[in-house]
Parts: sequence; structure tokens; C-alpha cells
Amino acid sequence: MEPYIVEPKSRMELRLLASQFRHCLHLDHALYFPVVQLLDILSELFPDFSYEIAPDGEFPSEVHADIDIRTSHIRIRESVYDGACGGNGRDRMTIAHEIAHYFMLCVCGFHLERNFSQKKVPAYSDPEWQAKCFAGELMVAAHLCCNKSPYEIAELCGVSDKAAKFQYKAFRKGADAV
Ligand SMILES: [Zn+2]
Repeated sequence: MEPYIVEPKSRMELRLLASQFRHCLHLDHALYFPVVQLLDILSELFPDFSYEIAPDGEFPSEVHADIDIRTSHIRIRESVYDGACGGNGRDRMTIAHEIAHYFMLCVCGFHLERNFSQKKVPAYSDPEWQAKCFAGELMVAAHLCCNKSPYEIAELCGVSDKAAKFQYKAFRKGADAV
């Protein structure tokens, strides 16, 4: 059972939010989203935000990065940060995922509560689904990529083949699809 529930957001709402976020950053036309540089930009824009690059040994094996939303602090594995700097799509998406949590919960203030009642959480109220969705929409802008092939999306946006195919399919689903 998911430990947290967040106020519901559809993919279309998160797509709009991602494009508004890009607009605020003057990145409307950037196919290759500069997610590593965004860490430093956020540090300047939001005094509460901070991040650190930590040795891989400080993380459990399955964790590539994490965020403490109480302190707005993101920690990133050194190998993931280096990979993202080198253009590795999966590592770039890992950073986008943590930024997505920060932006939605700490900047936009999406209401988050513990799932005390242990009820089944639908995808659109799961903070992990929302972060995955927002990160995908941020890294692969719908208005720039809706007519591109998965191969073009992976090459131009600097995302993994898997993420490119996922986003390609998401652009072809109906407005209420997760
Ligand atoms: Zn997450």
C-alpha cells in the first residue's frame, strides 16, 4: 500500500503545469531540457532549496536519489550526477523526478497526507506516479515532441529509449489516461 496520498492530478493537468514551469524558466523551446543546470537555478530562485552530490555508498542499492520535502533538500548519487552531466537519459530523468517532487510539493504546495487508512491509492493520487508523470512531461515537452518518433525523442530530449517510448504512447492516449 502506498504510504502517502496527494491531491489528485491528471496527466493533462501535470502536462500544463510542466509547460508553465518551462515557460517561467524561459525554456519553452528547449528540446534538450537542462535538468542538471536546473539544480543550480532552483538554488538561486528558492532560498529554501538545496541539493548535494553524495557518495554512492551512502544510498541503499535501489535508491539513486532522494528528497526530504520538509527541508527541500535533494541528495543525488555521485555516479547518477556524473551520468546526467554526461547526457545519460536515465540519470537525467532521476534528477527530474526529484525536482518534480520538490516543485509539486514544496513550491506548488500539493496537499499531501499519510495513507493511515491503508486504502488503495489511485495512480493520479500517488506522489510517485505524479513525480514520474511530471518528470516525463517536463523532459519531453508535448508541444515540441507530439509528432516525433520514440527514436527522435530519445535523441533530441536526452531521455532513455524506455522513457521516450512511454512518452510517445502517452501523447497518443486520451486526455484522461494515466
Ligand atoms: Zn519519487
